[in-house]
Amino acid sequence: GVPIFLHIVFFQAVASPPSSNFLLLGPSGAGKTAFTTLLEAKSSPASNKSHTTHTSQQSTLATVTLPPTVPTASNRYRSVNDPSLKEAIRNPIRYRVRDTPGHGKLRVSQGLAELSTMSQSKDIKNKLRGVLFMVDTAALVDETTLRDTATYLHDVLLVLQKRAKNGSSSKRTTEIPVLVAANKQDLFTALPPGSVREKLEAEIERIRKSKNKGLLDAADTGLEDEEEILANDEEETFTFKLLEFETGIKVEVVGGAVKGDSEENFGSGVRRWEEWVGMCL
Ligand code: GDP
Repeated sequence: GVPIFLHIVFFQAVASPPSSNFLLLGPSGAGKTAFTTLLEAKSSPASNKSHTTHTSQQSTLATVTLPPTVPTASNRYRSVNDPSLKEAIRNPIRYRVRDTPGHGKLRVSQGLAELSTMSQSKDIKNKLRGVLFMVDTAALVDETTLRDTATYLHDVLLVLQKRAKNGSSSKRTTEIPVLVAANKQDLFTALPPGSVREKLEAEIERIRKSKNKGLLDAADTGLEDEEEILANDEEETFTFKLLEFETGIKVEVVGGAVKGDSEENFGSGVRRWEEWVGMCL
C-alpha cells in the first residue's frame, strides 16, 4: 500500500481549507436560511446527513461548494474540453457562507457587527470576498418592507464605505462587492430585478436626504458629528453607480429563486448568484 504520510500529503493538497468567506445579510423572511440549506444540499447530494438546524437567532457558518460548471475569475476563459474542468468536478471549489439573523434588533448586534469584523480582518485566510444581501422581491411592494430593507442595505453599504475610506491610499484595499440577490422571482407578484434596483436606490436617496438634513440641524446646534453620507456627494441623486464611482464599491442586483433551483433550470434558480460568487473567487 501507499505509506500513510503520502495519504496525508495528498489529502492536504486536495482538500485545501476553504478560505473565501461570504456574508449573507438581509431582512428576515428573504430566504437566507432556505438559500444556505439549498447550497449545503447541493454540496453534498450523496450524503443524507441531517442538516444543521438553522435558527433565526444565531449566525451559522456553512462550507459549501461551487458547481464545477460555474466559472471563477481565474478560469473564466476555460473551455468545456479543458482538463481543469475535470479537476474541478473531482475537487470542487469550496467557500464559506455565514448566514445572519435579519430581525431588526439582531441586525446591529449580529449582521452589521459581523460585517465590521469580517471586513476588517487582516487574516488573508479569512478574507471576506463578498456580501450577499437577500431580498424578498414579492414583499418590496409594501412601503414598510421597502423602507426597512433599504435602511438595512444603506447601513451595510455605509460600513463598507467607511472601510474603503480607511484603507491607505497608497495600497488600495480591494473593495468588497455586494450582490443584491433579488429572491422569489418564481412568484408572479415579484418585482423584476430592474425595478428592485430602482426602488432601493430611490429609498436610499430618501434616507440619505433625511440624514443629511439631520446632520445640518445638528451642525446648527454645534453638535457636529463624525457621521458621513453614503456615496459622499449630497448634490447628486443616489444610485449604485454613483456609489461605485465615489467609493469603488460595486453593487449588482440579480434575480433568482431559491425555490425551483435545478440543473435543468439554468438561468433561474440560484445559478446567477453562484456565478457572481465565482467571479469573486
Ligand atoms: P430568512 O429569514 O431570510 O432566513 O428566510 P427563510 O429562509 O426562512 O425563508 C422565508 C420563507 O420564504 C420560507 O417560507 C421559504 O420557504 C420562502 N422562500 C425562500 N425562498 C423562496 C423562493 O425563491 N420562492 C418562494 N416562493 N419562496 C421562498
